[in-house]
Amino acid sequence: MQGGSVKNITIIGGGSAGWMTAAYLSKKNPDIHITLIEASDVPVIGVGEATIAHLSRFLFTLGLKDKDWMPHCNGAYKYGIKFDNWHNIGDEYWHPFEALPYYNSKTNLATYWWYDRYKYNRKSSRESLYTDCFFSTEILKQNKIPRVPGAQDYSDNFNVKAGQDHVPVRVAYAYHFDAGLFGEYLKNHLAKPAGVDHIIDNITDIERAEDGNISALNTKNGLTLEADLFIDCSGFRSVLIGAALDEKFISFSDTLFCNKAMAMQIPYENIETELQPYTTASAISHGWVWNTPLTSRRGTGYVYCDNFVDQDTAEQDYRAFLGEKRVEAFDVRHIDIRVGKYKNTWVKNCVAIGLSSGFIEPLESTGLHFIHVAVEKLSVALEGGFYNAGDRLAFNRYMTLSMEEARDMLSIHYSLTNREDTDFWKAVKYDTKMSDSIADLLMLSKHRFPNDKQGYIFGNNSWICVLNGMNYMPSSDPFLNIQPAEVQKQMGLIKAYTALRKKVGHQFPNHYEYLTKQFFK
Ligand SMILES: Cc1cc2nc3c(=O)[nH]c(=O)nc-3n(C[C@H](O)[C@H](O)[C@H](O)COP(=O)(O)OP(=O)(O)OC[C@H]3O[C@@H](n4cnc5c(N)ncnc54)[C@H](O)[C@@H]3O)c2cc1C
Repeated sequence: MQGGSVKNITIIGGGSAGWMTAAYLSKKNPDIHITLIEASDVPVIGVGEATIAHLSRFLFTLGLKDKDWMPHCNGAYKYGIKFDNWHNIGDEYWHPFEALPYYNSKTNLATYWWYDRYKYNRKSSRESLYTDCFFSTEILKQNKIPRVPGAQDYSDNFNVKAGQDHVPVRVAYAYHFDAGLFGEYLKNHLAKPAGVDHIIDNITDIERAEDGNISALNTKNGLTLEADLFIDCSGFRSVLIGAALDEKFISFSDTLFCNKAMAMQIPYENIETELQPYTTASAISHGWVWNTPLTSRRGTGYVYCDNFVDQDTAEQDYRAFLGEKRVEAFDVRHIDIRVGKYKNTWVKNCVAIGLSSGFIEPLESTGLHFIHVAVEKLSVALEGGFYNAGDRLAFNRYMTLSMEEARDMLSIHYSLTNREDTDFWKAVKYDTKMSDSIADLLMLSKHRFPNDKQGYIFGNNSWICVLNGMNYMPSSDPFLNIQPAEVQKQMGLIKAYTALRKKVGHQFPNHYEYLTKQFFK
């Protein structure tokens, strides 16, 4: 069958993917009846706390305001990512979620910053890109958030006066939250009230029709669940797309070597200083450690590759990094990671969403993003109550291209390193497989920063921040010919940023105080 009408959907899995899918479809496709089944004896993955700014679109569509859901999920704000020790030990760089300004120009401010630095032999450091060209980084460093009084949800926008102009500053933000509680919130406040049926049972057997479609799922307790469309949100088990339909899995392990993780939750010692409005990704001996501050605790985890270090040594390194004494009372949870994706994530009448469809590894926090965009695309495909082969093709192409873009973005975090202090860092430096599109980007970026790289997930600002952070700067002999007056004007914006921060910086609220005041009065 090429497609068909869809009146009933069955979702397998009650993790973040299952409940995000159920909540979204029950709101946007109300004529479709949805059943969600989850096994009581298969736990959810229990990690996945850092998001990217696109999530605001999901929240907006569901009509969720920060004040409604964040307190239920121990949610805090995330305005970017700080990377420690990636190019060299001791280095630091930032990936703020702020758009690079195009100040009456077709070229972004970072390009002028670079031009000014080399053409006029300025002494500005490589690190100054993050504070010169982005208004918010300096504020984040002080544990403050760039929220102005009366700010609306989903992003922070305000104007900076530069000369005669008012230049808009557009700061997008994301969140840190407990993904398990987020799923619970969506279940109890949206999906179930909208009529989603919820069954606790285990899928044990899958029935196929002659045309290869899934016709029914049989459960441990003797139920038979029929549906027009089945959504596989069963996590790394991929119960439908992999185990039943046997779709080919494309591994990304030749590009992204990390295949293990361990996670630990740590209580705060001093929440006012530790509740930072950004994720920190710190490279250590055989991978990297995440730090995601929630309002209730810090989430941490170590992502590493077991070809280079055994689990016990990795755990010792992780504990040493976090502070042996501080974490001695807390257990570590070990997790296997499968990096890659199914060739097609919509096959026959089965759509895989979440970890069941693929996973890129948590650097740059794209896991929940792929759930959000998959359900968004699926919802549009099902708008008329049916789908055809074209919908499936378009969905598969979109998911493949966006997951490959994430893989490519992560690949340069590793391959552009200068570290050779362990076999892991030597391997990622010399052996990471690069895609053609990354090879193109690196060639272009030898001469100038990318100016038109608006992909599925990452825009110019993201690519420029990471390339610069990994010391992949354009040539020190700019062949662009920019008029001095234009450079001066653009540098004026940097001065205006600095002046405004000095003038009003104290008015921006401390992250902890803001959350306390807004949500926990
Ligand atoms: C180490 C690590 C760190 C991560 N960090 C981030 C991050 O910072 N940011 C981010 O956005 N994402 C992150 N992710 C990804 C994120 O955790 C997941 O995308 C998200 O939690 C969705 O998981 P899921 O619902 O697909 O799977 P799970 O949470 O594994 O849920 C699977 C569900 O399927 C059910 N199930 C399985 N088999 C059956 C069966 N036979 N019958 C019935 N039910 C069944 C289970 O009961 C469960 O309810 C991370 C992932 C990992 C591994």
